[in-house]
Amino acid sequence: MTEQLYDCIVIGAGPAGLSASLFLARYRRRVLTFHHNSPRNIYSHGVHGFLGHHGIMPTELLARGREEVTMHGGLVVEGCVTKVERIGEECFRVLTGDEKMVEQTFEARRLLLATGLRDLTPDCPGFREFYGVSVHHCPDCDGFEATGKRIAVVSRGKSAVGFTLGLLAWTDKLTLITNGDAGDMTDEHQAKLSEFNIPITNGRIAKLEGDAETKQIEIVRFEDGDALECDSLFFNLGTQPASDLHDMLGCRIDEECGLVWVDEEQQTSIAGVYAAGDLTPKSQLAVVAAAEGAMAAIHIHKSLIPESQRV
Ligand SMILES: Cc1cc2nc3c(=O)[nH]c(=O)nc-3n(C[C@H](O)[C@H](O)[C@H](O)COP(=O)(O)OP(=O)(O)OC[C@H]3O[C@@H](n4cnc5c(N)ncnc54)[C@H](O)[C@@H]3O)c2cc1C
Repeated sequence: MTEQLYDCIVIGAGPAGLSASLFLARYRRRVLTFHHNSPRNIYSHGVHGFLGHHGIMPTELLARGREEVTMHGGLVVEGCVTKVERIGEECFRVLTGDEKMVEQTFEARRLLLATGLRDLTPDCPGFREFYGVSVHHCPDCDGFEATGKRIAVVSRGKSAVGFTLGLLAWTDKLTLITNGDAGDMTDEHQAKLSEFNIPITNGRIAKLEGDAETKQIEIVRFEDGDALECDSLFFNLGTQPASDLHDMLGCRIDEECGLVWVDEEQQTSIAGVYAAGDLTPKSQLAVVAAAEGAMAAIHIHKSLIPESQRV
C-alpha cells in the first residue's frame, strides 16, 4: 500500500488522456496517468483525419504519446482504476488493482477522467474478422474510404435514418438492415429513405462473409437464406462509458447525449474533476479527444496556480 500526492491523476491513456498528460508534464506538474490497454479504436487499421498522422496505427500513435509524456517527466502506468473518491477539499484518492498489480492508492489535487466509450457492436459471426478494415461504426472516420462503394448499414429506429442519409456524402449505393428490429422507425422515416432509393431489409443477420485474409466483407447472410452483397458495412448501435468512475464521483450527465457534462474549461460538475475525450459530448474523434485533453490540462494547470502568483 503506497500513498503519494500528485498534482493530477489522469485516468485513461488514449488521445485525450495522453494529450492532457503531455501538457501537464510540460507545465512541470506531477502527473500520473493510468490505462489498462483498451483504447476504443484497438480494432482500427489506421487513424484517419488526424492532421499530420493520417493513417497511423492506433497502437503506434499511443506508443509515441506515452513516450512523449515520459520524456517530459510524466509517469504512465498500466493498471485498472477501480475506485475514486474525494477525501478533502483539494484531494482525491484513486485505487488501482488487477492481476498484474498489487492494490495501491494514490492521491491527487485534481482528477482527469479520459476513460472513453465502448461501442455496442453487432452480435453476429464474422463481425470481428472484418471490423476496422471493411466494417466500421464511424462515417467521419472511414466514410471517405467507402466512396462509391456498396454500403450495408446496420442500425435501428429513428437514428438509423439520419445515420444512413449521412452516408450519402460518399455513396448512393446504400441498404439499411434493421436486423429484425426496426425500433421507433415510422412510415415517414421509411418514406424519407425511399426518396433516396435506399431499401430497408428487416431480416435477421446470420453471419458476415468475405475474405478473412484481407478482412474484406463481401456478403451479409440472413437467417432466412437471403444474402446482400456489399463492399463495406457501417453499424450504429450505440455506445456506453468504458468505466463508471464518473458515477462514483457524482458527475452530472448531459441529458441530451448521456455523456459526462463539462463546462468550457473541461471541468465536470464536481470541482477539481475534469473530463475529456469520448466520455464527454461533441464529436468522437481522436483529434477532438486530443484537443480536449490539451484544453483540460491548460485549465487544470491554471487552477493549481497559487493565489500569490495571480493578478
Ligand atoms: C474501430 C474504430 C475506428 C476509429 N477510427 C478513427 C479514425 O479513423 N479517426 C478518428 O479520429 N477517430 C477514430 N475512432 C474514434 C477514436 O478512437 C476515439 O475518438 C478516441 O480513441 C477517443 O479517445 P479517448 O482518449 O477519449 O478514449 P480511448 O481512446 O477509448 O481511451 C480510453 C482510455 O481509458 C483507459 N481506461 C478506461 N477505463 C479505465 C480504468 N478503469 N482504469 C484505467 N484506465 C482506464 C483505457 O485503457 C484507455 O487508455 C475510431 C474508433 C473505433 C472504435
